[in-house]
Amino acid sequence: MSNGEFALIERHFRRPASAGQEPVPLGIGDDCALLLVRPGMQLAVSSDMLVEGRHFFAGTDPARLGHKALAVNLSDLAAMGARPLAFTLALALPELDDAWLAGFSGGLHALAREHGCPLVGGDTTRGPLNICITVFGEVAAGQALRRDAARPGDDIWLSGRTGEARLALEFLLGRPWAQPVAGPHLSLLQQRLEAPQPRLALGQALAGIAHAAIDLSDGLVGDLGHILDRSGCGARLHADQLPVAPALAMLPAEQRWSCLLAGGDDYELVITAAPDRREQVMQAAAQSGTAVTRIGEITATRALVILDGQGRPLPGRYGGYDHFR
Ligand code: ADP
Ligand code: MG
Repeated sequence: MSNGEFALIERHFRRPASAGQEPVPLGIGDDCALLLVRPGMQLAVSSDMLVEGRHFFAGTDPARLGHKALAVNLSDLAAMGARPLAFTLALALPELDDAWLAGFSGGLHALAREHGCPLVGGDTTRGPLNICITVFGEVAAGQALRRDAARPGDDIWLSGRTGEARLALEFLLGRPWAQPVAGPHLSLLQQRLEAPQPRLALGQALAGIAHAAIDLSDGLVGDLGHILDRSGCGARLHADQLPVAPALAMLPAEQRWSCLLAGGDDYELVITAAPDRREQVMQAAAQSGTAVTRIGEITATRALVILDGQGRPLPGRYGGYDHFR
């Protein structure tokens, strides 16, 4: 590593206050960081990479990019019911641009502080802009919310609402149908796309209460499908129960369903829990300040059926969607 790179890390990434105390006895500056793993807890580990031109537009506000790079990783911890401990950052940069780095690290550290999750190490190299974060969290042994733990009869819950990030993306891509609808709501929609809030408090409150969970990165139907695959079950989704953001309510039906059911980049949680846990799920939601909505049930039949308000399969390509072929 060159002097320039050391200086860069000192200036933008090292925060002396965040190391030397539990759960991080040793942070940035040695060959490894050291994390304390408490007895009875399991370490939850996940990585996500963001590549310019693929996961974000060139020229995206660097502070929001810093926020999102960490947020999508924290969202994975949320989906396991884990509490964040620390994260590492592997960064490829085309040049040492101080203004860009100040913005990026500002967004990154603000979210890290909010969730008590310090940056404890990483790697820095020259190359096309590429951001890879690894998060470490802890969850009590046996209490993690695993994809393979859904059971027939479980309620399916959704945190927040889906579709706004996708509408923002379609607007930014210049899609004609998205322009008149998204325009008036753009700042909120763009915030949903560029600065998602990981549902950590909700996930942790549900560890040991709910059965399965997943965070929504690729769209509700596809990501719920991962739970169904891993759990060997099916589901009935009540499409009319899905919360609809004001901007989405203005869309033609086809685009509205597409955003709600297959939008992507939502970073909400889908949770399954036994019906006798309804009270506790509602309590966890209230306690964590996160809205939750019951949107369906897990079934024993290996199919995902999406119903409209009259109990009929939804018309169009989502209605008969067979995830299992
Ligand atoms: P090594 O050669 O032993 O892998 P480096 O010289 O690459 O270590 O890094 C020096 C220190 O700076 C290490 O503690 C490493 O974790 C940290 N570091 C390097 N890049 C970053 C980064 N982008 N963010 C945070 N810490 C970093
Ligand atoms: Mg070393």
